[in-house]
This record gives sequence, structure tokens and C-alpha cells, in this order.
Amino acid sequence: MTNETLGETDEPFGLPESGREDRPSVVVVGGGVIGCAAARELASDHRVLLLERDQIASGATARAAGEVTMEPSYTDHPEIADFATDFFRAYDGTGAFEYTETPSVELVTPDREDAARARVTRLRESGVEVAFMEASAVERRWSWIDASPFVGAVRFTDTGHLDPYTLTTTLQSDAEARGARVETGVTVTEILADGEQIEGVETDHGTIRADDVVVATGWRANELLGSTLETPVRPYRTQCLVLRPESPIPDSFPMGWIPGEHVYFRREGNGDLLVGGWSSAEDDPAAASESADEAFRDHVAALVPRVLRTDDAFRVVDGWAGIDGATPDTRPIIDAPADTPDGLVIATGFHGRGVMTAPVAGRLLRCLVADEESPFPTEPFSLSRFDSRSPNFEFLSISAGGN
Ligand SMILES: Cc1cc2nc3c(=O)[nH]c(=O)nc-3n(C[C@H](O)[C@H](O)[C@H](O)COP(=O)(O)OP(=O)(O)OC[C@H]3O[C@@H](n4cnc5c(N)ncnc54)[C@H](O)[C@@H]3O)c2cc1C
Repeated sequence: MTNETLGETDEPFGLPESGREDRPSVVVVGGGVIGCAAARELASDHRVLLLERDQIASGATARAAGEVTMEPSYTDHPEIADFATDFFRAYDGTGAFEYTETPSVELVTPDREDAARARVTRLRESGVEVAFMEASAVERRWSWIDASPFVGAVRFTDTGHLDPYTLTTTLQSDAEARGARVETGVTVTEILADGEQIEGVETDHGTIRADDVVVATGWRANELLGSTLETPVRPYRTQCLVLRPESPIPDSFPMGWIPGEHVYFRREGNGDLLVGGWSSAEDDPAAASESADEAFRDHVAALVPRVLRTDDAFRVVDGWAGIDGATPDTRPIIDAPADTPDGLVIATGFHGRGVMTAPVAGRLLRCLVADEESPFPTEPFSLSRFDSRSPNFEFLSISAGGN
């Protein structure tokens, strides 16, 4: 952000404190996928100002693997999964954004067979398009998979993948085209409230008055909310590796999840193999390494020859780690809590699923700001579902097709 934007007087963004048309009505804090999705949803009929301390999509969003596994993640609320999947299908082709539909398999070891089969029966009865595939059927369908350590796989079809950076910048462009203003390099230092009502935010560039503030700061939500509100969100670290085989993996290769091994995988567009997972709670998130660990590399190196039927050697061509916010039940908090000032709306704790949940989060944030009815159930996202708001809970790795 330049001094020219700020104005000589350090008046916030050259805007008066109140009363002018260009004063924002909503400040969105955080330019990750969630903040950009919220800004896009709100921009057509609100004066939206999005503030990002760094660059757009520079937090967890930049590090995501781009898996969209909403169907396995929300089997108890298929309308939530459908909302996200329908959005990605419809948004495919907007700007540079692409959504690649790809089936997803959860490989099942013998000790998990009974539970997996019972789950498939239950889900099919409730209308979810899921099937149990025998190991031989898995190998016939995807010859690169060596299913011999498994009894079979749970297959979901309403899944896919995307590039998280392109999704986020496309949402940003869309938000700007609808009138939102986006400022990067601005840190919000405090949420301003007069008792019952939000008044705006304090930033390292001055004060900004607004009626509503959307906190979309990822795992940093508690840091910003301070004494206003504590949420049960705990930072955790998770990793990705990209492996290049000698010959590209075929287009038809599915996305996959191996619960006992704590990893998921998918094919990259050029035929590389992306393997992610290996998550753990992180007590010092700001200082955590952004590189994949040696232990994760070793784990993947031992796993790949067991689950892939190929003589190809794999070379690690990329690897990274990132921080996201975990919640006790692995679902995010998207809410305007009743015991906080009117106008405060929060979206945090996306627990490895923020990219795929962004359409749902964006719409729900709009509904909370504009006081509109949500098209899908909101209870799974309410803060009040937790008895405790302490961030000191036991970290759970995501299961059932998530990350
Ligand atoms: C390795 C890895 C793999 C993943 N894979 C997947 C996947 O396959 N599918 C999926 O759906 N999800 C995945 N995730 C999770 C996903 O990346 C996150 O859930 C999602 O990006 C969260 O988005 P966000 O906008 O809430 O947070 P972020 O992307 O972290 O954005 C928050 C933004 O707020 C800004 N900010 C913070 N504090 C302030 C402040 N005070 N003032 C101004 N700005 C501020 C930050 O700079 C940041 O840009 C993965 C995550 C990681 C780390």
C-alpha cells in the first residue's frame, strides 16, 4: 500500500470517519480463500473493504493441496457438500479457474472392513452416491494402484480438485468487479466496538469505521479477537510432497485417502503425484518450518512402493508444510456469536478443508452480515456447539476422506 493511497493526513484510506458514500460498511479481515469468498458474496450490495496483512492467498491457502472432498466430509449434511460442489462446477471456467472432477477412494485395511461396509450401507440408504469396491475391482479400474494390502475401497464420485491460488485470486477479481476494495500490506491490530456494537477496526495504517467486521484470519483468529472472544481453534501443521514418476500417472488416476497411514494423494495436472497429510498440533505456528519433514519423506518413500503397482522410480520435486486452524470436531466455526458485539462475524478453524468449504463459508458469512436465511444448515458451524471455547483440546487428524 502506498502513501498516496493513505493520504498525507494518515486519514484511513483517505476516507472520512463516517457519513460518506465510500465509507466501507463491511471490513473483511484476511485475504485467504475465506476472506475473498466472503468479499465476493457481499460486494454486490455492500461497501466491502478487504484488508490483508501480507499478500492475497499467502497464508494456509497458498499451501493447500486443492482437494475437494466435501461429499465424504459432510455425509451427515449432503446439502452442505452439494452447495460447495455445485459452486465449483458452475465456477469452472471463470477467469483462469478450473475444477477437475475426480473420484476419490478411501483404501480399507482388513481391520476396518466391517465398519467401512456398514458405513457404505448407511450412506447409500441416505442417498449418498458411494460404493464399496472390492480390491480386485480397484485394481481393474486403476491399474496403477496395488490394492493387495487392502480389502477394497470406499468410492465417492462427487469429489475433485482445483488450484487454491487461482480460486482465491478469481474470487478476489470477482469481488473487485462487484465493487469491493482490496488492500494488501495492512495489518488489523484491534477490533473496535462500543459495548454492544462493532465500530470498525484499528490498523497499522489508521482507524477504519464500519458497521460489520468479518474476521477471516485463519489460525490467527484468537490473536486478533483478543479479549473480545476466545474460540476453540488450535494451530496445527500439515505437509505435502510432490513426486515425479519416470512416466506420468494416467489422467484417470483417482484421489485417495489411506486412513491408517495419515496420508491422502492425488494426481497433478502434469502426471506428478501429490501426497499430503502427516498433521500434528503446533505450539509455535509463527516459527514452524515451512518445509516437509524428513520423517514425512521417509514415510511416503516407504508407502509408495506398497500402494502403487509400478517399477518407476519417484523423485521428490517439491515439498512444503503449512499451518491451519483445528477445532475439536474438525469442522469450522462460521458464526456471529450472540455474546459478542453486533456486527462481528467470524470464520475460522477450517481444519484442512478451508479451500473446499470456501463457497459455503462465503455464503454463510453473507447471510450472517445481511441477516438472510442460509440455504443450508448452520448448526454444524456454530460456536455454541462446543461446551468449551478453550483452544487447548486434543488435536484430531481428519478422517473419512478429508486431509
Ligand atoms: C499443507 C496444507 C494442505 C491443505 N490441503 C487442503 C486441501 O486439499 N483442501 C482444502 O480444502 N483445504 C486444504 N488445506 C486447508 C486450507 O488451506 C485452509 O483451511 C484454508 O486455506 C483456510 O483459509 P483462510 O482464508 O481461513 O486462512 P488463510 O489462508 O490462512 O488466510 C488468512 C489470511 O489472513 C491474514 N491475516 C491474519 N491476521 C491478519 C490481520 N491481523 N490483519 C490482516 N490480515 C491478517 C493472513 O495473512 C492470511 O492471508 C490445506 C492446508 C495446508 C497447510
